[in-house]
Amino acid sequence: MTNPLLSEWTGPFGIAPFAEIEDAHFAPALDEALTAHMAEIDAISSNSDAPSFENTVEAMEGAGKGLDQVLSVFFSVAGADSNDARQALQRDFSPKLSAHFSAINSNKALFERIETLWQTRDTLDLDAEQARVLMLTRRSFVRGGAALDGAEEERMTEIKSRLATLGTSFVQNLLKDEADWMMPLSAADLADLPEFVQDAAKAAGAEKDAGGPVVTLSRSLIVPFLQFSPNRALRKTAYEAWGARGANGGETDNRGLAAETLALRKDRAALLGYPDFAHYKLETEMAGTPSAVRELLMEVWSAAKAQADKDAQILEAMLHADQFEGPLEPWDWRYYAEKRRLAEHDLDEAEVKPYFQLDRMIEASFACATRLFGLNFAPLDVPLYHGDCRAWEVSRNGEHVAVFIGDYYARASKRSGAWCSAMRAQARKPDLRTPIVVNVCNFAKPPKGKPSLLSYDDARTLFHEFGHALHQMLSNVDYDSVSGTSVARDFVELPSQLYEHWLEVPEVLAEFATHADTGEAMPQELLDKVLGAATFDMGFATVEYVASALVDLAFHEGAPPADPMQKQAEVLEAIGMPRAIGMRHATPHFAHVFAGDGYSSGYYSYMWSEVMDADAFEAFEEAGSAFDAATAKRLEETVLSSGGSVDATELYTEFRGRMPGVDALLKGRGLAA
Ligand SMILES: [Zn+2]
Repeated sequence: MTNPLLSEWTGPFGIAPFAEIEDAHFAPALDEALTAHMAEIDAISSNSDAPSFENTVEAMEGAGKGLDQVLSVFFSVAGADSNDARQALQRDFSPKLSAHFSAINSNKALFERIETLWQTRDTLDLDAEQARVLMLTRRSFVRGGAALDGAEEERMTEIKSRLATLGTSFVQNLLKDEADWMMPLSAADLADLPEFVQDAAKAAGAEKDAGGPVVTLSRSLIVPFLQFSPNRALRKTAYEAWGARGANGGETDNRGLAAETLALRKDRAALLGYPDFAHYKLETEMAGTPSAVRELLMEVWSAAKAQADKDAQILEAMLHADQFEGPLEPWDWRYYAEKRRLAEHDLDEAEVKPYFQLDRMIEASFACATRLFGLNFAPLDVPLYHGDCRAWEVSRNGEHVAVFIGDYYARASKRSGAWCSAMRAQARKPDLRTPIVVNVCNFAKPPKGKPSLLSYDDARTLFHEFGHALHQMLSNVDYDSVSGTSVARDFVELPSQLYEHWLEVPEVLAEFATHADTGEAMPQELLDKVLGAATFDMGFATVEYVASALVDLAFHEGAPPADPMQKQAEVLEAIGMPRAIGMRHATPHFAHVFAGDGYSSGYYSYMWSEVMDADAFEAFEEAGSAFDAATAKRLEETVLSSGGSVDATELYTEFRGRMPGVDALLKGRGLAA
């Protein structure tokens, strides 16, 4: 019997034959695909012909087709429709895959061929994309330690494995501290809270067998508690427990782990020839250097701090009006800010929701892509991995462009959040591949016969993920490894965050934000409230975020701190952190930075992208229309079609004529002077 995961996929546009795939197919298919991929890699590295771009780099790009097929289906269902069997498979697959790719990275014969090509690159007659793919391929081998030998190679392996252990312990300690703490609520304290917080506190109490409602350290419960509880003493207790996660002494204390992690990262960077970890990490990012990151953060910091200081005065006056003395404290901010929000932007979710119907918002996201890029969307009837998924064929001028799949509803088998992934990334060489892209969201599924209604935030999420999808679908490159969203981390959110702006375009809302029952457009007054609420308390949000980003950067630049808590205190002191605002993530629970390498000295990147998206949308405003044809064409030809085949700075400069300043971001966040 042939395994459908490894057979030739002959259905429409080469979509996986989901109806034929069973869980039992995954494990044998993965083993077979890994073996086949390794054989292809061995054939490339042991080729007796002298290395050429085609027989080495391009051959690597084309290798592993079976592995791509297996993983594209597996990761789709593991994330969006998991079950016990799939979770068990995931635990098996993850060490197998990391061993597989680390074996390829340490294949000396293969690296030698790549190095030879790199040394002779000027004589190879490569086009610009090939030259870049060669540079990126070699760089990734070198950064993985492929150029090290002997004791250095051993030390690198040792460091990597210790760092992996430290990252896992960091997260486990955090989970333990979070699980261990709870605060019971009396009937009176419970009654002070809005119904949804009461429900959450009761559910948490039931889950923990606490015999009554409790507050826990889960962000989705403690943040609304801090927003709504008028009991200042309880807020203080809860806030301090939340801030102490990972710093409670004993076995779950993360402070020693953080210090060891930072020291090992510095050693790792030194082995590879970098002055420190921040320089190593930022080399592959658009920002490039620690000083470029710091410059951006400090520009935003001054404006945000000025706004936060003003807001603090207003909130402190509210505190005093409540007969409390002394300064505003961190456990007060959210409570008084919420009171102020209600007074200034009285926004009733229930009034807004009927205007944001899922189907109309999908139509809106498509209609904007039609006007901007000439894309057309036709429903496609194919079996997918779950009955709630829908598919469309995307075409332009009658030519096939991509398949787009939307999987919008929450279900128990889906992990939380929203994401975009390519089941197949676009490429032309060595084989032609058109993209198959999926957007996964977690919107509440409506009762049968009722329309699905979104919050404004949900609608933004839909546009955000569709922006990532456009980046994949409009990709127009030769090689898979630089296709679509395969770009620097601080560039990848540009297309998605940029696309959110079209949801705010008045004519888009007028046409698509129509009432589910009456069909009428949203009244201007309500629309103004929705848009106004989006920038409320941005001084606070920006300060807590930028402070964390600056501490992250300081940790990884120069000598590693022996005492990270001391370093954190120094950084906050130097920037004049407002006393009533805490860091969004303090060191002992800063999982972005210590759970793994993903966002270490990279926490800034959300803001880097936001600077660009705000500035990029201004290009349309300057041209006089959110749908200006020439600007849309330029956006596609530079940012959206090039993936990682061209340096991000070059792409942005080509689109905008210059690099962005922070003005548009400050305006967008309501922080401009
Ligand atoms: Zn995103």
